[in-house]
Amino acid sequence: EQERWQRALRAQFPIVTGHPELAYLDSAATAQKPQAVLDAVQTYLTTSNANSARGTYTWANRTTELVERTRGRVARFLGDDRPERSAVHFTGGTTEGLRTIARDWLPGFLRDGDEIVAPDADHQANIVPWLEAQQSLARQGVHVRVVPMPYQSGSGDYDHRALAERAGPRTRFVATTHVHHVYGGDMNVHRIREAVGPDAVICLDAAQSVGHLPVSVAELDVDFVVFSGHKALALPGSGAVWARQARGPEFVPGGWSGTPNTVGIASLEAALDWLEAAGVDRIERWTADLAVRLTEGLRRLDAYEILGCPLSLAADSTVQRRQGIVTLRHRAIDSGDLGFILFSHGFMVRSDHHCQGDAGEKTGSVRVSLHVYNTVEEVDRLLSVLTSLP
Ligand code: PMP
Repeated sequence: EQERWQRALRAQFPIVTGHPELAYLDSAATAQKPQAVLDAVQTYLTTSNANSARGTYTWANRTTELVERTRGRVARFLGDDRPERSAVHFTGGTTEGLRTIARDWLPGFLRDGDEIVAPDADHQANIVPWLEAQQSLARQGVHVRVVPMPYQSGSGDYDHRALAERAGPRTRFVATTHVHHVYGGDMNVHRIREAVGPDAVICLDAAQSVGHLPVSVAELDVDFVVFSGHKALALPGSGAVWARQARGPEFVPGGWSGTPNTVGIASLEAALDWLEAAGVDRIERWTADLAVRLTEGLRRLDAYEILGCPLSLAADSTVQRRQGIVTLRHRAIDSGDLGFILFSHGFMVRSDHHCQGDAGEKTGSVRVSLHVYNTVEEVDRLLSVLTSLP
């Protein structure tokens, strides 16, 4: 049943079906696009292409409607049951989204003596903007402290007890990552909320979770959700910030009146429709099961070290589940070399440091990241190549 469902979905990715000799295992970097997304782009460009909000003619009006409709689409996709009290702002991706919050919103929210909690072993896109905000505020005489998000270990498991000890009444903004892009675990955001209290703003870097597992703002009680369209089956250069307008000032980013990436927005609408029809919960199950299969196979091979959260998690872990990302190291082969070896067998993986922040892994690694188009057969074939290496 699951396999039939997956085969039907995989068949909708022309780049995947067109290259049966290759296995794309780098979806955490960017995802492949289903035909429905390619069609939506073609249809938009051949029937309605115009600038938005300039409406005295049909194409412009259609474009304006597309942009506004997709704002609502994003809110619904994120489980927002009160969209009248939130805002969706389109961005070029997660990096731009986080920077926009840091530059356009955070300075109006923080006061002298406040604290920001920010990760230091997550993706750099979720570290640098907060440090930059701290520096630019300091130049204006507003001093805020950046407190590193504590980890239990090098596994991407946040230490919520240590966080609760560090957090005080001045902790007003917490930047957290939903699914770690190297370690592959998804954070239990409720534990972070409990640790920092009801008034702190929580900003969720959802680059690796939107499109991979259900993300519900109603359930998570976060204030910002930031993601990239290209990792969620849409075009590069699309993405969004969802902002709840409750715990701080309204989120009104600068550059509001510029021309939006209408083609990217058309692709995002189609991608979210496709993901919802496919069933994000089923996609999560599929990719998490593949990751378990790969991890179990790797555990039998002494030559490899597996980074990230273990398969059986401690009861007090902040991580809920290993998602579809498995990062490994061969004890003797350099990660770059391993990447080349794997590509000589048709596997496309990512090898290096994966843009991880300063406190992250110092040695490179190979990351295998999965999406709905990946198969059990690909994982088994990968395991047999990994097994054959000395
Ligand atoms: N955060 C995380 C967790 C990521 O994995 C990535 C992309 N690798 C980013 C942020 C940055 O996303 P983008 O390059 O699309 O801006």
